[in-house]
Amino acid sequence: MAPRKHKRTLNIYFDTDYTIIGVDGSLRPGARKLFNNLIQSGDHIFIWSGNGIRWKDLDRHKLSHFVTECLEKPLANFQSATEEIPKNSKPDLVIDDNLEIVAALGGVWVNRYYFPNLEDNELDIVGEIIEEVKSRGISLNPRYRKTPIF
Ligand SMILES: [Mg+2]
Repeated sequence: MAPRKHKRTLNIYFDTDYTIIGVDGSLRPGARKLFNNLIQSGDHIFIWSGNGIRWKDLDRHKLSHFVTECLEKPLANFQSATEEIPKNSKPDLVIDDNLEIVAALGGVWVNRYYFPNLEDNELDIVGEIIEEVKSRGISLNPRYRKTPIF
């Protein structure tokens, strides 16, 4: 049997607060490395937030050049809210500290990042899960929630 083909280039939507940025505005360890790796693989990074459009925060951390678009994140009715997004830009995976949106749209749930912590390796794990999903179509890591496209 031929191996199943999986989509190789993904639109990956990152939440902002407590996913990549802490309470004090600091950047979560591994964020730059993960963004760089995703771009190298041809993926597209979208940043959304329930707290507005976050280019300023991305500029401050010199991450803007990695990012395709910043959007307003829906806080409820996730499925219908993302229907408005053009087909080519729709989220394939969402990365968020809120399990509800990850469960609704598919992606990776992360532990909340509040305070600077150099030991935090959550985004390395996110990178591993994304790789796994891209090569096998699934991850058995409990942080992963299946996306309709896979
Ligand atoms: Mg958050």
